[in-house]
Amino acid sequence: MTLKEFYKKAIQTGIDNDPRGKKIITEELEDIKKTYNEMKDKEKEYFDLESLENPYPDTAIHYNNTENALKSIMVGIDIEGSELMIAKTLKTNGRLIDAVIGHHPEGIAFAKLHGVIKMQADILALYGVPINIAEGLIEPRIKEVQRRLMPSNHFRTVDAAKLLDIPLMNVHTPADNMVVTYLQSRFNNDKPYKLGDIIELLMELPEYKDGRKNGFGPEIILGSKDRKAGNIFVDMTGGTSGSKDIFQTLAASKINTIVGMHIGDEHRKEAEKYQINYVIAGHISSDNLGMNLLLDNVLVKENIDIIECSGFRRFKR
Ligand SMILES: [Zn+2]
Repeated sequence: MTLKEFYKKAIQTGIDNDPRGKKIITEELEDIKKTYNEMKDKEKEYFDLESLENPYPDTAIHYNNTENALKSIMVGIDIEGSELMIAKTLKTNGRLIDAVIGHHPEGIAFAKLHGVIKMQADILALYGVPINIAEGLIEPRIKEVQRRLMPSNHFRTVDAAKLLDIPLMNVHTPADNMVVTYLQSRFNNDKPYKLGDIIELLMELPEYKDGRKNGFGPEIILGSKDRKAGNIFVDMTGGTSGSKDIFQTLAASKINTIVGMHIGDEHRKEAEKYQINYVIAGHISSDNLGMNLLLDNVLVKENIDIIECSGFRRFKR
């Protein structure tokens, strides 16, 4: 499996496990194709051709120098110059590393991260939030995140990979889709009765056990272990946190408990106002679960060594 094949399979696995369902994605890709075909040549110059087939702008190959099959990859949650220097040092010492694969976006995927947030509206619509309200609330949030990303030096890590001649890609939303679809179906099947039962279910998974051992295990942020869980919504994909103004609408929907990766203080205060239960599963442990489930799918039948770095822990299913 080459890096390009790895990338294509990761995208396809992300689509197959997208909580919105395939129909919406197919429609969106057709929309993008139509927009592209109607563009003037001058506009086409700035069009990212990958977006015709990859619905996740926060996932990309940033640098590649080989068509050879991968034998060994270094995987981490955040890849920066330091991780690439570690890879270079290990290579110099005789360790085989064909590519470095990160989770959080770099380069063009970082600059376009806000492009995936709109999927949150479609997901909320599946839980009974009217699509007009979901889209109305998410649009200003997308602009806010876009403004927040503007001052960043997006290509710093990508430039390091080029200089060190180390193939680099990152896979973000496809992995986050894996964790959402997996946990949501576990909760739908097992129907945890109380918030304490949600924690117990999470603690069956090695990623959350590892988190607890190392000081960042799952926590009930709003509510208590004896409160009833009711309908659970796993909110872990779509780039970054959504709008803090959504909780009033959620209070009127069928959602009683949110299980998320993390929550900012402004969001927490809003959720508290509307009596929403909130369980934080843990950021890096949830990122690890998503990456592990993705790797299980992408690497099935493949014999590729994985070197863990930057907070990534490989647990095979
Ligand atoms: Zn993350």
